[in-house]
Amino acid sequence: MAEPLEAEIRRRIGLAGPMPISEFMSLCLGHPQHGYYVTRDPFGSSGDYVTSPEISQMFGELIGLWAAAVWRQMGAPAEVRLIELGPGRGTMMLDMLRAANVMPDFRKSVAVDLVETSPLLMERQKRTLGNLGIPIAWHASLADVPDGPAIIVANEFFDALPVNQAVKQADGWHERVVGIGEKDKLAFGIGPIALKFFAQTLPPQVRMAETGSIYEWRSDTQPLELGRRVVRGGGGALIVDYGHVESIIGDTFQALRGQRKADPLAAPGAADLTAHVDFQALGSTAEGLGARVHGPLDQATFLRRLGIEQRAINLKRVAPPDKASAIDVALGRLTAGGPTGMGSRFKVMGLSAPEIATLPGFEA
Ligand code: SAH
Repeated sequence: MAEPLEAEIRRRIGLAGPMPISEFMSLCLGHPQHGYYVTRDPFGSSGDYVTSPEISQMFGELIGLWAAAVWRQMGAPAEVRLIELGPGRGTMMLDMLRAANVMPDFRKSVAVDLVETSPLLMERQKRTLGNLGIPIAWHASLADVPDGPAIIVANEFFDALPVNQAVKQADGWHERVVGIGEKDKLAFGIGPIALKFFAQTLPPQVRMAETGSIYEWRSDTQPLELGRRVVRGGGGALIVDYGHVESIIGDTFQALRGQRKADPLAAPGAADLTAHVDFQALGSTAEGLGARVHGPLDQATFLRRLGIEQRAINLKRVAPPDKASAIDVALGRLTAGGPTGMGSRFKVMGLSAPEIATLPGFEA
């Protein structure tokens, strides 16, 4: 017997035919009863994956100091919105606000807005952040956050937004879909009709790809909203995620379960689904609205420029001796290079209003 979400997906395919990857992903992650983020807390060492803020408090603290510096660059407005997209357990925001204590004027000016769709994680965020004496509001999407001067941060948010895939065929690009295949299993397929006007929108390096190539894009409007807000609010944004610096071809749609790669179609709703972030697409969307783009840089480079090494030394000085080595291990994980290291796989991109020429950490 199929699990309830798989049954629902099969029902929809039965009615309307194979569905785009984005629809499948959005059901698996966000279905109101059975979605992955709706039914579980995937973070931490026992969860499906561990994110940078869960590895060490240093990560959020440095980003908190980054935000305080951006606030200064904005002319230290008396009220600023500190917006986080997809805050998970609320750990990064907690560490950011603690670090902000060293700049009381900044801390006093802050109201926090959290963009979150999972009721379960919202509860978790309330527990983490509810007693700090800072106003906090929750929103389903960035578009729902009131306007005004804002600093926006997002770690591992954009990779969780639904992705579409197109496959190059002799007669053009076709949408990649999820349907019913052999032995009555969920299977990838290729939509019957070429996507109209699709090739014109592609960067040249993608347009020339060979038959069979896969190209990914996101139609979510939050990148547009991000650019608009940064420009209108005179502020800055920081996006940390894994992905590619330039738009390229390739299938990066993947499932993670118990910290291992899994078949994305195997257990709808029980595995985390992600796809790489296309930083070129994100950056040019914001640029098109008049924002300045900074980076992307490797996470390791960015964290070192913000002083993570010194921060680790200071923390070790006050830590009990048995905790000191854990600080070094965390530092190593956040800044590790090579194909699997978080320090090189994760990229950091800044966006700012045009009047802010450089953001902290991105200076050449
Ligand atoms: N930033 C956190 C969590 C990353 S996981 C960390 O680094 O630990 C992705 C987060 O985005 C989760 O909180 C998830 O519930 C939320 N999320 C996923 N899709 C979303 C969407 N479409 N709108 C709002 N939040 C979303």
